[in-house]
Amino acid sequence: MNIVKTVTELRSWTAEQRAKGNRISFVPTMGYLHEGHMSLVDLAKQHADVVVMSIFVNPLQFGPNEDLERYPRDLERDQVMAEKRGVDLLFVPDVKEMYPQETKTVIQVKGVTDRLCGASRPGHFDGVATVVCKLFNMVQPDSAFFGQKDAQQVAVIQQMVQDLNIPVQVIPCPIVREKDGLAMSSRNVYLKEEERIQALSLSQSLQEARDAYSKGKTPAEIRELIIARISSQPLADIDYVEVLAYPSLEPIEEFGDTSFLIALAVRFGKTRLIDNLMMT
Ligand code: AMP
Repeated sequence: MNIVKTVTELRSWTAEQRAKGNRISFVPTMGYLHEGHMSLVDLAKQHADVVVMSIFVNPLQFGPNEDLERYPRDLERDQVMAEKRGVDLLFVPDVKEMYPQETKTVIQVKGVTDRLCGASRPGHFDGVATVVCKLFNMVQPDSAFFGQKDAQQVAVIQQMVQDLNIPVQVIPCPIVREKDGLAMSSRNVYLKEEERIQALSLSQSLQEARDAYSKGKTPAEIRELIIARISSQPLADIDYVEVLAYPSLEPIEEFGDTSFLIALAVRFGKTRLIDNLMMT
């Protein structure tokens, strides 16, 4: 596996690959890799000849009181995992390489960012869209892989790619969970023992929501059911629970023929977890 830190090195490697006729898949991450990230690599390998992964903790997508400084990092471990799984090139720029000067250009995707994490983390998706657009321009992949764990992020990137005619196929990938149901996340490492136990209420409440949906409950009833289930955990502090049409992310009063998303964000102490259930 090649490891490069600069855009120049990255571009010369990708140019070589394209000259050989190789198709390039891209997996952008913030590192501290787990099986969720690895599942994206597996799918990326199926879609192309070579896989580029980036690891960059992007300051632009963190708010002033968020966890940028303490975000978990372990590049040595990440390198071993990426290499074992078959990543061909690992791009690990530092902040100066990505933002040599303060960026004056910011990508703002409207509409799909109005609710959920877009509402509770102002500016977050501007940071995400801007860095993903920059990474797409640097790597120029044929396809890029994003986890449905961050369902709103997928909607934002798909909207951006469509609006700006970016020639990258965006491929959403299923959520990977721990054996007990907790959605894998680099941030799970923050959880204290009791928080980790109570965090199971997130995936469990989504399972209950699925059953309630099949019994004909309304979006409002399902939302209330989830709120009641999670609120029964003393350490849980709900940020949002929403039932929305997907990918428009508009509220729905009743279920129809269209896809929908049940999404939630819950704090345990300083740790904010998200999870969701997509029904298509
Ligand atoms: P992150 O490093 O958390 O920014 O995530 C990088 C990519 O991995 C994003 O596309 C995430 O949606 C995806 N991802 C993170 N956790 C999971 C998971 N549990 N299952 C599937 N994809 C995931």
